[in-house]
Amino acid sequence: MFQEYNENLHWSDCIASLVVQPEGSKRAIELNPRLIDKQGLDVSQIKRIMLLHEDKIRFMDKMDVLDDVRQLKYYASMIEEIEFYLQGFWGFPQNSDYHRWWNVPKCSCPKMDNEDLYGTPYNVFNEGCIIHGEKRPPVRMEISLSYELA
Ligand SMILES: [Zn+2]
Repeated sequence: MFQEYNENLHWSDCIASLVVQPEGSKRAIELNPRLIDKQGLDVSQIKRIMLLHEDKIRFMDKMDVLDDVRQLKYYASMIEEIEFYLQGFWGFPQNSDYHRWWNVPKCSCPKMDNEDLYGTPYNVFNEGCIIHGEKRPPVRMEISLSYELA
């Protein structure tokens, strides 16, 4: 997917596609090239972001076929952690107000209400949600960007 890194090249010379779709997954996302330029990202930052999305999609795919509440919560918290790393690599503040935590498989929290409250510290939970029902896992935290690359 990637060519050799060369600092004299624009990222688009090194990265042919901004689509992330792990093999065998139905999920795919595409990074926004204008946002990449706006944030002034380099090739290594873009690669990290793409790998994080790959992991995020893999975790969501795992959640699709899981019923065990503890495992579902575990993967939801891993995805939440990935959101913080993504914000860091994109050059944004690490702020859970800008996470769409309700976009995980098996979550029954109200999507539209939370979409309306996106960017605010307010959240709406469904008490019966098997992932967020008792307590929402996202915790405001500062983390260091030490994400291990596969
Ligand atoms: Zn939920």
